[in-house]
Amino acid sequence: MIKYKTKAQIEKIRQSALLVSKTLGMLAKEIKPGVTGLYLDKLAEEYIRDHGGIPGFLGLYGFPNTLCISPNEQVVHGIPTDKPFEEGDIVSIDCGVKMNGFYGDQAFTFQVGEVSPEVKKLLDVTRESLYKGIAQMRRGNRIGHIGHAIQSHVEQYGYGVVRELVGHGLGSVMHEDPQVPNYGLPGKGKKLKNGLVLAIEPMINMGTHKIIHYNDGWTIKTADGLPSAHFEHDVALIDGKPEILSTFYYIFDALGMESDEEDAFRKEKLILEEY
Ligand code: MG
Ligand code: MG
Repeated sequence: MIKYKTKAQIEKIRQSALLVSKTLGMLAKEIKPGVTGLYLDKLAEEYIRDHGGIPGFLGLYGFPNTLCISPNEQVVHGIPTDKPFEEGDIVSIDCGVKMNGFYGDQAFTFQVGEVSPEVKKLLDVTRESLYKGIAQMRRGNRIGHIGHAIQSHVEQYGYGVVRELVGHGLGSVMHEDPQVPNYGLPGKGKKLKNGLVLAIEPMINMGTHKIIHYNDGWTIKTADGLPSAHFEHDVALIDGKPEILSTFYYIFDALGMESDEEDAFRKEKLILEEY
């Protein structure tokens, strides 16, 4: 059952989402060759607790850490390790926070140093697809509009949309109804109504959409070993329009706001003004 939120509840989700965004911004400064996922995990846990939050993933379904850290061919749910990142890696970091009874949940795929142009394209297109999906979250549309917008954008580039993992409703529970697939048809699924809060999170593979489960019980990787990207925002439907509660601003700021990141940030603003 979908739990529609009051404006006061949405404000609480926004506070949790912003703490996640700030945590990712803090981590952005640390990500370089030689750094390990376990080190980032420790930093993130301390930062979240110092700012009045509780790590949202730690212990959730038994997950052992604060961050999901999924390098290169790992799609999501990677467990932080002591293996140092290398130049040219990409690292998807997913972070959750619980504060004042509500969750925030956000993900970003970071570059370690310089990455290949093919990989950079995957990151750019995946992030664009997130905004295409968000733009569909408005009154009169259905859940299927969101997934359709994401899928049709990324498939133009020959990328694969992971089917088994989806976005979700967000609130006092991390994963609420409805499920938000990154594929689908417009006009299908539940109608979008004010008070809906979704975590929209395209998980896009450079090659096949097929995935494999590691035997650690958590990590998911691409079946063909090609890289995968993951970007996630928390979005509320307010007065018929999408409002992004999380932000990549802190990440772009930490990275010195390169032009393409700046552009994505501008798109966040544009979507808010468009409707
Ligand atoms: Mg997440
Ligand atoms: Mg999520």
